[in-house]
Amino acid sequence: MSNLFYQSRQPRPFLDRGEGIYLFDVDGKRYIDGSSGAMVSNVGHSNPRVLAAMRAQMDKATFGYRLHFRTEASEALAAKTAALMPEGIDRVFFVSGGSEAVESAIKLARQYALTQGQDSRWKVISRFPSYHGCTLGALALTGYDPLARPFDPMMRDMPKIAAPTTYLDRDNLSEEERGLKYAELLRDEITAQGPDTVLAFIMEPVGGASTGALVAPESYYGRIREICDEFGILLIYDEVMTGAGRTGKFLAAEHWGITPDIIALSKGFAAGYAPLGAMVARNDIVEAVLDSGGFLHGFTYAGNPLACAAGLAVIDEIERADLTGNAARMGEVLKARLEGLMARYAFIGDVRGKGLLLAFEMVSDRDTMEPLPTALNAHSRLVELAYERGLIIYSRRTRGGITGDHFMIAPPLIITEAQVDEMMAILEDALDAFALDAGLAVAA
Ligand code: PMP
Repeated sequence: MSNLFYQSRQPRPFLDRGEGIYLFDVDGKRYIDGSSGAMVSNVGHSNPRVLAAMRAQMDKATFGYRLHFRTEASEALAAKTAALMPEGIDRVFFVSGGSEAVESAIKLARQYALTQGQDSRWKVISRFPSYHGCTLGALALTGYDPLARPFDPMMRDMPKIAAPTTYLDRDNLSEEERGLKYAELLRDEITAQGPDTVLAFIMEPVGGASTGALVAPESYYGRIREICDEFGILLIYDEVMTGAGRTGKFLAAEHWGITPDIIALSKGFAAGYAPLGAMVARNDIVEAVLDSGGFLHGFTYAGNPLACAAGLAVIDEIERADLTGNAARMGEVLKARLEGLMARYAFIGDVRGKGLLLAFEMVSDRDTMEPLPTALNAHSRLVELAYERGLIIYSRRTRGGITGDHFMIAPPLIITEAQVDEMMAILEDALDAFALDAGLAVAA
């Protein structure tokens, strides 16, 4: 027995080392990190420049409490981060992970409303399905029943609107009309809740594992921004997974030219080299809150110099090697390869995503998008078959209110075309084995 525990009993080999897109266990077996862990390792493993920057910081100081000292690493990372944000979003608050970034965002939003004399505003509308974290505040926003329902009595119920799962729709609307239809759900919900009770709307610009890299139609993004403005509601972009170049832009928001009011970052931001996240907000929001007596929120490890040195080196590396550009280019290549799988495997019903945040979904019928039978346990079976063959992918079984198996394919942003080929060969081998096991047809 190990003294250590996580969410379930799932014995895994001991990790020995990482190198680029690869991880090695202590028996020397090599794995392609096809999901960057949990969409974290944007610059790959053991990047020498990042490690050197961390060593240099370690030789100076690894901790200085923020109330006692400023540190060069945290100031430099804040400046660098602000420069990468849309205009006016330039105040940075450091945390240690994604849930903390989301908690910080909604608490800042609430304090800002108080400074505006809008005491009645406290509801944060989010989407279903979605993932915003597992701490109780962030969990209340998370649209994923298996994780949230047991804790209902301990959380404040927050309103949810349907995420734009347009790939399931069988209406005659155009893409543009569909996008607007889903965006209008926000207006309906605000009206139903009472506009003066609604504080903010939070969304993942490209969905994570809860939706399998869901991308909304173009028209959705701008209309959501307009509706928030119309009702004086803050727009929070949860870019914990999509930020730091993952989707082929530094922020996913840039694809649609959207300026949110608050942005949550983590994961790729320090790319697994240190626990780090950030909440970045509009200057006037932060100024109003600081003027009102201060932000009533903060974590001991906030702005940890070692974590910030890692984050700074990671962002420098993303820029130096143009990993955002590579994510866009390799994302196209990989997406086309995944779409190509649909010719061979009729049980792949949809391929979606942006940049190197991609996913495919399995179905028993492409026309109706009926999920595979639960008994096939596809989401865990394919992951295991790939793992045995040396490829790590990430899966979930959820789709709106119903279940559906989808698989995230999100390798480090340093991946080359030859490595895409290598990854696809293993994936196809695993899919063949899965089809054989499950008795599903495979085209020649
Ligand atoms: N928001 C999003 C969009 C995420 O993908 C995640 C993590 N999967 C979180 C928040 C929570 O981050 P963490 O696990 O670091 O608390």
